[in-house]
Amino acid sequence: MATSTKQQDKKLTLPELRKHEGSLYIKNNTPHHMSFHQRIGEGNVDFELSPAGTSDSVAHLPKLALEMRGLQKLWMKGSITVSTDEAMEDHITLLMSQSIAASDEQMANLRGEVEEANTGRDLVEKACLQCGETDPKSGVVTRGRVFQSARELKEGIAPLCALHADMAALFPGSLTTDSQGNETWTFATTTVTAPRKGAK
Ligand SMILES: [Zn+2]
Repeated sequence: MATSTKQQDKKLTLPELRKHEGSLYIKNNTPHHMSFHQRIGEGNVDFELSPAGTSDSVAHLPKLALEMRGLQKLWMKGSITVSTDEAMEDHITLLMSQSIAASDEQMANLRGEVEEANTGRDLVEKACLQCGETDPKSGVVTRGRVFQSARELKEGIAPLCALHADMAALFPGSLTTDSQGNETWTFATTTVTAPRKGAK
């Protein structure tokens, strides 16, 4: 990948790093979780790095950790980068904000607003029978989006979002076959809720 010229790439030696006055940064270059726990003299090294690219893969390096044999070996192998580059600070911030964004997305997933087609099968977008809304013009589901597999459709599983998944009994399905022999399930609304938009 094209990265900008790194002048900071001149690798400092261990004695140079020890002498460095400013912040030190450590970056995990491997897909593995790393933990650094060791008592050194009066001090204690105790930190962890998550796999490369994740939010905790870059961290401030406690200077004492430079004395760790294990860390020195990883550094020599290139499994970690130790840097004095202040740009690492931005990198830490960036990874953190990415991780916050990612957890927001997870929350949305939990609320059933976003569901990913992770099964690789063809999924059909449906509106949740309880809370779903479909734009009558475009047919786009604007609320309570549910994805159903071809099998679920065929079996007449009521489209319900994660929040309303336990309400299937309130929406009895009936199978209709059109002149072309296409089978479609329709679900009756037996609950006393506001009439759904677009309902027949
Ligand atoms: Zn719902």
